[in-house]
This record gives sequence, C-alpha cells and structure tokens, in this order.
Amino acid sequence: PTMTSAQVRESFIKFFESKGHLFVRSSPVVPHDDPTLMFTNAGMNQFKAIFLGDNPKGWKRVCNSQKCLRVSGKHNDLDVVGRDNYHHTFFEMLGNWSFGDYYKKEAIAWAWELLTEVWKLPKERLFATVYKDDDEAWQIWKDVSGLPDDRIMRFDAHSNFWEMGDTGPCGPCSEIHYDRGDLATQAETFKDPIKGVNGENDRYIEIWNNVFMQYERLSNGELVPLKAKNVDTGMGFERICAILQGKTSNYDTDVFTPIISKVAELSGVPYKDNEDGTPHRVIADHLRALSFAIADGALPSNEGRGYVLRRILRRASRFARLLGQKKPFICKLVQVLADTMGDAFPEIRERKDFVASVIKSEEESFIRTLDAGLERFAVISSDLKKGEKIPGDKVFLLYDTYGFPPDLTGILAEEKGLLIDEEGYEKCMEEQKARARANMKQGINTMGTEGWTQYSEASTNFVGYDISVCETKVVR
Ligand code: ATP
Ligand code: MG
Ligand code: MG
Ligand code: MG
Repeated sequence: PTMTSAQVRESFIKFFESKGHLFVRSSPVVPHDDPTLMFTNAGMNQFKAIFLGDNPKGWKRVCNSQKCLRVSGKHNDLDVVGRDNYHHTFFEMLGNWSFGDYYKKEAIAWAWELLTEVWKLPKERLFATVYKDDDEAWQIWKDVSGLPDDRIMRFDAHSNFWEMGDTGPCGPCSEIHYDRGDLATQAETFKDPIKGVNGENDRYIEIWNNVFMQYERLSNGELVPLKAKNVDTGMGFERICAILQGKTSNYDTDVFTPIISKVAELSGVPYKDNEDGTPHRVIADHLRALSFAIADGALPSNEGRGYVLRRILRRASRFARLLGQKKPFICKLVQVLADTMGDAFPEIRERKDFVASVIKSEEESFIRTLDAGLERFAVISSDLKKGEKIPGDKVFLLYDTYGFPPDLTGILAEEKGLLIDEEGYEKCMEEQKARARANMKQGINTMGTEGWTQYSEASTNFVGYDISVCETKVVR
C-alpha cells in the first residue's frame, strides 16, 4: 500500500527515534535570531549554535521535519520553481543530526537501511556521491551498500561540500540520488547525476544529503575545525513522497494535490500535468511559501525579507490572472493549506485567518495596477525582437509605477523570448534612492519606502498599502 505524505514523515521520524534520536519541532521559517540568514534554508539552521560548540541541553541525536524557504541568499531556487517538478520555494527537509556522537559510518548505514529496507527502494535506482578526497565515506558506502564502484561517485566542492551561507558550519557531504527513469536505458543515459540539478534533467534526482559537519567558515573565508565531528542530514520530503507514491512530479503527490484541485475548482480551469498547469503549480508552491512565512512572523513589505515575500505574492497573483482571476485568489487557498498541513504544523491552522487577510490585502493592492501594468508591458515588448533586452528604464517604470518586481517582468519577458536589462534597472533604482535621500535631507516628506517599511513591519494592524500612487500610504 502506498504511504500518504503524513505517513512518510511519520515513518522517517519513527525510524530515527528507533535509533535513539529525539524529535525536535521545526523552527520557524523566519530565523528570528540569525542575522546572517533571511529565511531558514535547511534543517540544521536551528542547530547552528550547537555545531559551534554551545549545546546547553546536551543533545546528542535529534531528528525532525524542518520548514525551509529557498528564495534568497546562498540557496535560492526562486527562478527554477515552476520550471521543474522538484524544486520548491517552500519545502520540508527531513533530517537527522549527531552532535559529536555518531559519524559517517552510522549515518550512511542508517540512510541505506531506511531507503532500501524500510522503504524498499530498488538498489539499482540509487546512486551515492562523496566529496572528491573522502576515501573514508567512499569505502563506507561500498561496505554498507555494495553499490558498484561507478555508482559511488566523487565530486568537488560545488556539489559535495555543503555550506549554509557565506559563514557558519560546513563540511564535506555525501548525497544520494535516485533514478526515476526507465531502467532499460539507464546504462546508456547515465553520465552524471549532478548535471540533473536545476531542471536540466528530471530523471536523476537528488533526494538526500548527508553532511559531515566539521568546519566553520569564517567571514575572512578561512575554514577552522569545529570542536566535534557532527552529522547533519537533509532529505527533500516532497521528493521522497513522489518516489514512494510512484509519481514523477512532486506536484502529483498528496502534498500538493488538494491545493491544486482547489485552484482548479475555484478558477474553473482544469489542471494538466504539462505546461498548461504551470499556473496551478506556481500558485500552489507560492501559497505555501507565503502562508508559512506570514504565519511565522514575516510580512510583505518593500525591503529585505518582506520584499522577497512581496515578489513571491506578485508572481503568484499574475499566474492567478492567467487563470482568469481578477479578484484576490491566493487568499482563498489558505484554508485548504491549513487543512492539509495543520496536523504537522499547527501554527498554520491557528493563524490561517490572519495569513489569509494579509495575503488578501496584498493581492488587492497589486491587482489595482496589474492590468495597467500588463498593458504597458505589452506596449513596451511589442517593439522588441526575440533575444532583445527590455531597457532598464522600462523595467524600472514597471516596478515603480505598476509594482512589477523585476523578476516578474523577467518572467513576462521570457515568455516572449525577451531578456531584461538588469544593470540598467539597478542604475535607475540607485538614482531614485539618491533622490529620496536628498529629499529626506531637505525635510521633504515623501514617505520614502525605507521609512514606511519599518513602520508596517512593526505593526500587526497593517492591512494594506496603495501602490497606485507614488507615495505609499499605510492604512491602519
Ligand atoms: P538540488 O541540487 O536539487 O538543488 P541541493 O543540493 O541544493 O538540491 P541540499 O542543500 O543538499 O539541496 O538540501 C538537502 C535536500 O533538500 C536535497 O537533497 C533535496 O532533496 C532537498 N531540496 C533542496 N532544495 C529543494 C527545493 N528547492 N525544493 C524541494 N526540495 C529541495
Ligand atoms: Mg539546490
Ligand atoms: Mg545538489
Ligand atoms: Mg545537495
């Protein structure tokens, strides 16, 4: 019998509990105490201090399913979401950790046991990778799995040395990849599982990373050994659900199908597992990212973290428009998300009304300018030939007047075979900031974006803003 996603999560945690691990709840996707990080990007984030030597509770082995967002910084998948079927903005990372306790041997042996004995994945579909000079990990893989030599591959730091950010704990890693294709053609098609990264190859998919945390990267780039040798693993929950449920797309698992069905039901546009279904998939993905970020204390705004959320929402909103939705739409999906994920993450059920109201007011204000912006975009792009760039000042105009973040303009451009002049846009942006600063000095109150952002983020009564006029106003 096929496991439900809830059972997959449960079975991972039960397995590691049976190996002496303590279950620790997911930390929020908004890391309130780590200034080096905009959003939680991996399960290990909440244990960073422990790796660095501060372990007040004396934890040795823990496991969990962590809410992650990869939309900024070192791990940013925003641009590939919607293009492939296994990178999400928001996803869950199943993980097990050893803080100076077990090391490579147990980590690899347990990973193999869970995958092949508990979950009974066929060995012929599994590939392992190790860091290029990690002979120890290579040999453990050989002994534990008996995989053929050419399926225990060595790669350099690009894929097999994991770092959470520019600084912080890091170390060589060993990844497990899975072949979702036709085994009869494996030998002739298989070259390199890593090349499958970022949508170039949907056949060989990375499922699990085992990081052997033994260094700290300092801000001057230097690597210093940590006090203890640790294990930090992360497995893509939606990916393993797809494999265990026999699906080739994460969007066809029960993690996503209730949301996608709701999108189809409310819009009247049936879902298709091809390009026509892109709006459904992007909306389902972005709904999760927005909802969990807002439930965990972030708010859309014009800066930093809040601006990332605003961009995600506007992309989602434009895809809703492609489904014919002219009124707030994303907000209507929060309920189904709360229903499907509320057991695993009660915070989403508890805060669903607040989340929906924040999303609704964001959608309302964007929708006010969306049509006009799309029209303007059509005019701007009509003069350009395939492969040409939309000039920076036009990209800026779309941002400044119609609220189109440049990455949204980039999506629209790409759909027409065009590019955008990012540098030119940045230059216009800088000029505008300089003007605002000058005005500020002269005491002209233009309510510059920076000022109002802080204000709105500080206020939980924030219900909306109006981007259709130059001066942003906060409605309380
Ligand atoms: P990929 O190469 O597929 O981008 P990664 O090497 O960047 O993955 P890791 O940092 O090693 O990912 O994270 C551990 C695991 O989390 C991965 O093995 C993968 O299963 C999962 N994962 C990573 N990024 C995403 C994402 N954007 N959406 C869903 N799952 C992800
Ligand atoms: Mg990646
Ligand atoms: Mg990878
Ligand atoms: Mg990886």
